[in-house]
Amino acid sequence: MLTPKGDIFVSYALVHIVTVFACAFLCIIKHCYIPVAKGFILKRYARMSKLYAPTLKEDPTDADIASHKLLVRAGMIRKAAAGLYSYLPLAWRSIQKIESIIREEMEAIDAQEMLAPILTDAELWHQSGRWGAYGPELMRLTDRHDHEYALGPTHEETFTDLIRNELKSYKDLPVTLYHIQDKFRDERRPRFGLMRGREFIMKDGYSFCANQESLHECYEQEKDAYATIARRCGLRAVPVVADSGQIGGDTSVEFMALADAGEAELIYCDACDYAADTEAAVGQINVLDDEVAACEKIKTPACQTIEDLAQFLQVDVRLTRKALALVDEAGNPIVVFVPGNRSLNEVKASHLFGDYHMMSDEELVQFGLHKGFIGPVGLPQGIRVVADSSLKDLSQWICGANEVDYHLRHACLGKDFSIDEWQDLIVTEAGDSCPCCSAALKSARGIEISQVFQLGTKYSKAMGATFMDEDGTEKPFIMGCYGIGVSRTLAAVVEQSHDEHGIIWPVSVAPYEVAVIPLDVHDETVWPVAQRLAEGLIKAGIEVIVDDRGERPGIKFNDADLMGFPYQVVCGKKALAHACVEVKNRATGERTEVPVDEVVDHLVHEIVPQRQGLQA
Ligand code: ATP
Ligand code: MG
Repeated sequence: MLTPKGDIFVSYALVHIVTVFACAFLCIIKHCYIPVAKGFILKRYARMSKLYAPTLKEDPTDADIASHKLLVRAGMIRKAAAGLYSYLPLAWRSIQKIESIIREEMEAIDAQEMLAPILTDAELWHQSGRWGAYGPELMRLTDRHDHEYALGPTHEETFTDLIRNELKSYKDLPVTLYHIQDKFRDERRPRFGLMRGREFIMKDGYSFCANQESLHECYEQEKDAYATIARRCGLRAVPVVADSGQIGGDTSVEFMALADAGEAELIYCDACDYAADTEAAVGQINVLDDEVAACEKIKTPACQTIEDLAQFLQVDVRLTRKALALVDEAGNPIVVFVPGNRSLNEVKASHLFGDYHMMSDEELVQFGLHKGFIGPVGLPQGIRVVADSSLKDLSQWICGANEVDYHLRHACLGKDFSIDEWQDLIVTEAGDSCPCCSAALKSARGIEISQVFQLGTKYSKAMGATFMDEDGTEKPFIMGCYGIGVSRTLAAVVEQSHDEHGIIWPVSVAPYEVAVIPLDVHDETVWPVAQRLAEGLIKAGIEVIVDDRGERPGIKFNDADLMGFPYQVVCGKKALAHACVEVKNRATGERTEVPVDEVVDHLVHEIVPQRQGLQA
C-alpha cells in the first residue's frame, strides 16, 4: 500500500512525465510536422541540406542544348550510359507532376490506367509483322529457354493481345486503356539528354472501337486532352497534321512544342489553328506575272541557274520558272515546273511519282533534254508535264527554250504551250498565305512531345482481334493509339522556359513552388522567421523547400535560380528590420517586399491560379 505522501509523489511524477512528453510533442509539431488541412496527414517542409541535387558550375561536355545542360547542372538528371538517365529527386517530382496532369486528363475522358509488362513476347511481334519491320531500334533479348522477347518501344501488340480474347461484344465498346512506363528504343543517335533517350518514360494508350465514328470520337477526345495536357505543363505546343501519306486527312496529329532546339521543322499560322510539318504544309504563295507581250527567244549564254538568268534579264526571280527533270518509279520521264524562287517538296513529289529520281546527265540526253534550258514550249514527245498549281493563273513565263544557251520570255500559257497536270509541288515557306485563313504563315522548329493516331484495323486484323457487332457478325476492332513522351515533355518545358541563370519552372510542374532562403541560418532573427514562413506555407498547401544550408547568400541565390523554383522568399536582416521579406518571381525577375504576416496570403494568391497551368 502507498502512503498518501507516496500517492502525491506518484501523481507529481506522472504530471511531470506527461508535461515533458507533451512539450516534446509540441516542439516536434512546431518545428517539423505541420498537420495539413486534409485529414491527419503530417507534412514536413523539404530542406536543401538534405536534398540530393549535386549542382555543377560548368555545362557537361556532351550537352548541346539548354535543357540537357540545365537539367544536369541543376542536379536533376545524371547519365548512366548513352541514352540512359537517372531522374534525381527534383526531376522525379516534376515527372510525377506531369504524370498527375496526364492522369487527371485521361480520367476526364474515361481512359483507364493499367500497367502492362515492359517485356513483350516476340511471338506477338511476329503476328503483327513488326518483328522484322521494326529493325535495329527494337531491343531484343532471349531468355534461358531460348525464347525471344523485345523491350517494348510501344505496346500496340501487347494491348491488342490483352483484349483479343476477352473483349467480345460491341456492347462493351469503346474501351480505352493506357499505362505510363519506361520504353526502350535503340536509337541510332541517342542525344540531347532526355529528348532522345534509349530508355524513356512514355504514356501510351490504345482505344478499341466498334466503328469508324466511335474511333473518331475517341481520337478527337484524346486530341483535345493532349492539347490540354501540353498547356497544363506550361508548354506552347501546336497540333501538327503529320504527313499521312496517300491516306490523306487528319488521321494523325503530332503536338510540337515550339523551340529552336527541336528536330522538326514546321509551318504554322498564328491567326488560326493551321500547322503542319514542313513536308506536309500547303500554302498560297505570293505570285507575280509579267506584262503581256509576244514570245521572245533570248540568247542567255552563261545562265546555268535561275539566279543567273534573273540577273541577266534584270527581272524579279518570281517571273522565272524552274524546270526539274525526273524519272518516276516505272522509268517514265517527267518534267516539273515550279516558281523560280521555290523548291520542289520531295515528299509531295514522292506521293505523286512514287520512288522517283532526278534525271542523270545520261538520262537527260536519252530523253532529249538540255540541262539548264528545259522549258514547256517544244518539249520532246512522251514526257509527262506537271506544274505547281500556283503557276496556273500566270500566263507569261520566263523559261528554258529547250535549246542550249536560249531562254524564252513571254512564253504564253494556253497559247504557246500547255501543261498536262497542276499539282501542289513546292515547299511551303514562312510568309506564304495560310490555306485556312490567308494570314501569313510562320515557320518554327518543334519538339514532338506527343502524337495521336487513328490506326484502324492494322493490328486487330493482323492479330485476329475481333468482336461481335450488333448485326451478329464478327469484326476486327477499329483502333487508335495515343502517346506522350513524359520525359521528353520535361526537357521540352526546360527548353521553352529558361534563361542564362537556369531553369524557370512553370508552377504546374515545378519540383517545389517556393524556395525559402534565410540568408543567415545562424541569425536568431532570420532563421525563426524563415521557419515560421515555411510552416505557414506548408499549412496553406504550398510546396516549399527551405535553404537551410550554412552557405553564402550568393550560392543560395544561384542554386535557386538554376533549379528554377517559381518563387523565392528571401529572409534577410535588412528587410526583417521593418518586418518584411523579399519575394522574387523567378519568371519575371520581379522582387517585391512583402510584410512577413502577408507572405503566405501573397503567395497563395500568386501560386494557386497557376497550378492548373491553364492561364493565358
Ligand atoms: P521521333 O520522331 O521523335 O523519333 P516517334 O514519332 O518515333 O518520335 P512515337 O512513337 O510517336 O515517337 O512515341 C510517342 C512519344 O514518345 C513521342 O511523341 C515522343 O514524345 C516520345 N519519344 C519517342 N522517342 C523518344 C526517345 N527516343 N526519347 C524520348 N522520348 C521519345
Ligand atoms: Mg511520333
